[in-house]
Amino acid sequence: MEPFAYQALSQRVVFGSGTLAAAGDELERLGHRRAMVLSTPQQADSARTLADSLRELSAGVFSGATMHTPVEVTETALAAVKAAGADCLIALGGGSTTGLGKAIALRTGLDQIVIPTTYAGSEATPILGETAEGKKTTQRGMAILPEVILYDVDLTLTLPAGLSVTSGINAIAHAVEALYTKDRNPVISILAAEGIRALAGALPRVVADPRNREARSDALYGAWACGTCLGAVGMALHHRICHVLGGSFDLPHAETHTVILPHTAAFNEVAVPELLQPAARALGTARLGSGLYDFAQKLGAPMTLREIGMPESGLDRAAEMVVANPYWNPRPASRDEIRQLLDDAFFRRRPGS
Ligand code: NAD
Repeated sequence: MEPFAYQALSQRVVFGSGTLAAAGDELERLGHRRAMVLSTPQQADSARTLADSLRELSAGVFSGATMHTPVEVTETALAAVKAAGADCLIALGGGSTTGLGKAIALRTGLDQIVIPTTYAGSEATPILGETAEGKKTTQRGMAILPEVILYDVDLTLTLPAGLSVTSGINAIAHAVEALYTKDRNPVISILAAEGIRALAGALPRVVADPRNREARSDALYGAWACGTCLGAVGMALHHRICHVLGGSFDLPHAETHTVILPHTAAFNEVAVPELLQPAARALGTARLGSGLYDFAQKLGAPMTLREIGMPESGLDRAAEMVVANPYWNPRPASRDEIRQLLDDAFFRRRPGS
């Protein structure tokens, strides 16, 4: 066994079907009396229904959450939270809503209950990415980590098949990088393989029938496992590239992870095949990079940077931005190697071909 250090994060996790009804109990368990419910505009109805069901425990709804946590939105939400006298936050939605809750918690010290409705995994991490003046910065800290995660499988039944696939592969990306990261450890490596196994088995069933509750339950369980990996260890080349593409080229988050992952996995597989073996096995493939490519293709996911809005003229600048700040990776990557990887992802070249 290699030497390792492992720091467990303290969170309460409630997982099941119909668990939304326990939101009020969870709030009282934390000792709070007035929660502000957060959502995106698209999920405002669900947020209002939850707020109504909380009755006097609700301080109202703020439904302006949006992708990449722009600071202006956080400031508007902060004013609403203060005006309503809220003593807790309930984020109902995907990573965008969770991000808003984290940004408010960081500035106020309020506790957070997160009710995730995608597979992004942000609920299980002490990480916050925020955007100000077109630049995305990321920070880590225990004040960011939500106190409670309430997983209700029923809320994921409406997640469209396409978004379920990209969100699920976004989760798989957390687990893949957790396997080779510098601070990898046995607990998280076991969880990473388990998360990939659960999502690899569930996503094809979700695509075949998005209302299949059992498949949805397996997918959400996999997302929790993968999110926990992201929260516990550092990431590498893959997340670095996606951070640049999302933050500076405004590409959609989950889709970007989906397009890039087969290429970063293939790139790193050359250097650390033994560390990625559990991921390949969990996916039922011999080679992880090409296996992920085939998996995404079979599920109808976007396969190129071009189709998710990346301009070809931006590829040079993106490669330069990736190498501009030092980051750790098991295989050092030069500017030209990253430019080639982006090219492959832009023009749909199967990794290893
Ligand atoms: P999202 O939260 O932006 O959701 C995408 C869209 O789907 C939104 O319109 C949302 O309202 C809708 N939606 C969500 N769940 C739904 C459901 N069950 N039914 C119908 N519609 C639903 O997307 P995301 O991929 O979950 O989150 C992306 C954001 O999360 C990015 O800003 C990313 O940076 C952040 N993120 C952060 C971390 C972290 O640890 N800090 C981890 C992963 C993602």
